[in-house]
Amino acid sequence: MNILIMGGPGAGKGTVSSKIVNQFKILHISTGDIFRSEISLQTELGLTAKKYIDQGLLVPDEVTNAMVKSFLEKQDISNGYLLDGYPRTLAQAEAFDKLVKGTDLEIDKVVALEIPFDVLSSRITGRRLCKSCGAIYHITYSPSKKEADCEKCDGVLYQRKDDTLESLEVRLEEYSKNANPILTYYSSKGLVSTVDANQSLETVWKETLIVLGENK
Ligand code: AMP
Repeated sequence: MNILIMGGPGAGKGTVSSKIVNQFKILHISTGDIFRSEISLQTELGLTAKKYIDQGLLVPDEVTNAMVKSFLEKQDISNGYLLDGYPRTLAQAEAFDKLVKGTDLEIDKVVALEIPFDVLSSRITGRRLCKSCGAIYHITYSPSKKEADCEKCDGVLYQRKDDTLESLEVRLEEYSKNANPILTYYSSKGLVSTVDANQSLETVWKETLIVLGENK
């Protein structure tokens, strides 16, 4: 099965993505991860991408599309894939569809995680991360048993610089600006199913499985 997952900041896309990949044993294609790996390997692509990523900009479509194309050529995708973070613009969606048209790599399903703004704002502004091990907490929903320290490794917890209401608004607006045309595009092909992400992870996962045809 070939799946595209969409979800704005704080919608839980990372968690649901790893569960999908485990459940269906498909290849996880995260363009953000690929860029980070290219940057750490200091490849030409990585150096180009870094210039944009460091400024909080999207990497240009031509660069991103070419990277996805060459990634697909190198990987075993016989079991299907989960696209995560790509396509991020309508032009990328159209380029990807053109690339895979008529092959068994066409997208079968788009899962859109949806969450209301007020819920998002409390999820994001309450988020705390461990400086040492990266563990994620929430001051209300999943606080550390050691308060300001990480209960796993005693590291110090901190708030990401961009986990504020102002930057959430900017990120959401940015996300919607690009995501809405993509969702409209795939909706017109009858591929989009929305999942209410404002529920327990267990329920979100159950609904995701139903949407993906695994409703046992
Ligand atoms: P992510 O981890 O998905 O948030 O991606 C990190 C950064 O990589 C983004 O902020 C963008 O600068 C860049 N990036 C990832 N995916 C794409 C994409 N599909 N198109 C353009 N830039 C991307």
